[in-house]
Amino acid sequence: MEQKPSPPVRKVGQKLDAIVIGSGIGGLVTATQLAAKGAKVLVLESYLIPGGSSGYFERQGYRFDVGASMIFGFGRKGTTNLLTRALEAVNMTLDTIPDPVQIHYHLPDGLDVKVDRNYEQFLQNITTYFPHEQQGIRRFYDECWQVFNCLNRIDLLSLEEPRYLFRVFSQHPLACLGLAKYLPCNVGDIARRYIKDPLLLKFIDIECYCWSVVPADMTPMINAGMVFSDRHYGGVNYPQGGVGQIAQKLVQGLKEVGGEIKYQARVKKILTRRGKAVGVELANGNVYYAKGIVSNATRWDTFNKLLPENIKPTNEKKWQQRYKKSPSFLSLHIGVRAEVLPQGTHCHHILLDDWNQMADVGGTIFVSIPTLLDANLAPAGYHIIHAFTPHWISEWQGLSAKEYAIRKEKAAKRVIARLEKIFPGLNAGLDYLSVGTPRTHRRFLGREDGTYGPIPRRKLWGLLGMPLNRTAIPGLYCVGDSTFPGQGLNAVAFSGFACAHRMGVDLGL
Ligand SMILES: Cc1cc2nc3c(=O)[nH]c(=O)nc-3n(C[C@H](O)[C@H](O)[C@H](O)COP(=O)(O)OP(=O)(O)OC[C@H]3O[C@@H](n4cnc5c(N)ncnc54)[C@H](O)[C@@H]3O)c2cc1C
Repeated sequence: MEQKPSPPVRKVGQKLDAIVIGSGIGGLVTATQLAAKGAKVLVLESYLIPGGSSGYFERQGYRFDVGASMIFGFGRKGTTNLLTRALEAVNMTLDTIPDPVQIHYHLPDGLDVKVDRNYEQFLQNITTYFPHEQQGIRRFYDECWQVFNCLNRIDLLSLEEPRYLFRVFSQHPLACLGLAKYLPCNVGDIARRYIKDPLLLKFIDIECYCWSVVPADMTPMINAGMVFSDRHYGGVNYPQGGVGQIAQKLVQGLKEVGGEIKYQARVKKILTRRGKAVGVELANGNVYYAKGIVSNATRWDTFNKLLPENIKPTNEKKWQQRYKKSPSFLSLHIGVRAEVLPQGTHCHHILLDDWNQMADVGGTIFVSIPTLLDANLAPAGYHIIHAFTPHWISEWQGLSAKEYAIRKEKAAKRVIARLEKIFPGLNAGLDYLSVGTPRTHRRFLGREDGTYGPIPRRKLWGLLGMPLNRTAIPGLYCVGDSTFPGQGLNAVAFSGFACAHRMGVDLGL
């Protein structure tokens, strides 16, 4: 058979300061920060719109968030409100709607707990179930506040920039020492210092699992300090018009400060010269050169696919031995008649029937109903429900089109049957249903195996093993959820601030 010739290589435009591969929130924060400093920046996005896992799609009058919808980082005070700050840096703002309850847990052993925005109310809600652990509960969550208070005092920039570290340390020595103390710690070890009741420790496990997708013993204390405290400080706030607005606004701001973005621009290769990253080649053959290349693709996509295997750095091989890909999700995007939701329903729910199945395929169900905060995302009289549960891609491969459709239908039915327990009449009230699998996540989000992100293969030293933005390949930086400090919109925004800071120094900006 004749081999298809590869498309011609075309060199396009003048040399740039930075090329950012991907327009997830990590990539866009890097791009906007650099462009705001005066750098000439080009973002190359393989999909039709920006946002990646925080993008959106529209069907039959519904606007669905593809992934994230519990949004941290929109507070008005402190330094950890990184989404507010990222938008402001390019003269943008976004109206947000405060969520009064972060999560309503529906758990085994009759635990029905709401994480109220008000800290004292939350402590009271959980203490109702564990009055004998009243003191331990307060001590544990108070210790999380210690981490948060350290973080929330300092400008969150690159840990790879010695002059910044020196400045921050001289201004806030106690906060820095506090953070250094917690950097190698995991939540489980701290929780057990204060809490003895095994059921309460299981509750702490799911408190971690629902965003880190690993139990407390493997969840870094720094990340927990952020999540468990910021939900009561800056709070969880939903962007008016849907989560997709964050990326849309960042792109608008990027353009206004002179940056550029191209869609349907899939990077096929990172080009190197004498071991240094110098440019990229797109699937259509176009080639762009820049002083620095930033990859917002996952580390697996970056180092296994965009670079030749023979130049994969040893430290990346070691990282892949310590961290593995988390599962992807089976996602149901549902449009439903409004009367199905009982009065007083909150936006985010976690459902689990058996503690032993917390981390199993289909074990924990995550639910978001953003129309309870912004009714304009659905036609009048209807709500959106996004329900998702972990699934591995391996279960969805090698199927005929018919088998794939049948398996999706069966899996969706199982999720709906479980949701019926909290939303009786859901099935009868369905108006729209689309089912996404790990294959869908892989295809539309450009993430290997559709993974949610990296998880430790075994218990590690807190966050110490997570790589920062520079890589062993000069000129190549990574940003997003497979860099420090991990998954979540506010976390990848942090990674974006840090990446742009380090790169800005390297570029002499
Ligand atoms: C179902 C689900 C629910 C979630 N819920 C929450 C939540 O409630 N709250 C929260 O904070 N977080 C949540 N998250 C996690 C959060 O969405 C992610 O951690 C975060 O959005 C990842 O951002 P990122 O910058 O790393 O990149 P991504 O969002 O992965 O974006 C990367 C971008 O790069 C593009 N790209 C990749 N390769 C190439 C290439 N070769 N050429 C060009 N472009 C390329 C992709 O198309 C994509 O647009 C959720 C995630 C999922 C999947």
